[in-house]
Amino acid sequence: MNEMALFKMSYGLYIVSSKANDKKAGCIVNTLTQITNTPNQICVSLSKESVTSDVIHRSKVFTGVALTMSADMDLIGEFGFKSSKDLDKFKNFKTKEDINGVPYILEHTSAYFSCNVVQEVDLGTHILFIGEVIDADVIRDEEVMTYAYYHDIKKGGTPKNAPSYREEKQMETKTQDTITNKKTIGWRCVVCGYIYEGDPLPEGYLCPICGVDSTFFERVEA
Ligand code: FE
Repeated sequence: MNEMALFKMSYGLYIVSSKANDKKAGCIVNTLTQITNTPNQICVSLSKESVTSDVIHRSKVFTGVALTMSADMDLIGEFGFKSSKDLDKFKNFKTKEDINGVPYILEHTSAYFSCNVVQEVDLGTHILFIGEVIDADVIRDEEVMTYAYYHDIKKGGTPKNAPSYREEKQMETKTQDTITNKKTIGWRCVVCGYIYEGDPLPEGYLCPICGVDSTFFERVEA
């Protein structure tokens, strides 16, 4: 089987959030999609290890927002590469609460979809939540971000819990770290895509976006 075929599938980029009692959680996904329109139902697949998955399981509600092309690495780093475990990811961004009291991000988003969970399917490593859309609205008319744009233009990486994560692909760029005559002008985090401008990378440097150490950085040459 040629697993590269799976990279020909296209996706959007979304933040899915939920709240159970006072615990808020949210993360970036590429697995949110509409599956029926009578009624309107959408589904999302989340790792069983994700805090968001646990909070949705307890609250039976979730809200999705579609990210726009303008979404920056501050937002993507916070929701894509950090855990909601001991962190309020929402505190540095403009948010609103939906009909279910679930917070959703207002910045760099084009629409929200509020859902009540009607079914959960155990997929082994992940849970597929199927939700009926009970409220939705357009936030702004701006082009939405695709997964391909995130990878190709923003040079973003894929976190380990994502269904589309492949270890070889993440490390491929790092091992190309051969000696060349080119000048190193910076270092790129292969996990999240963050670029440190300058050389060398300071000792003990940790990625400010996703938190990995210097071994996950590859040279940016000019
Ligand atoms: Fe990073």
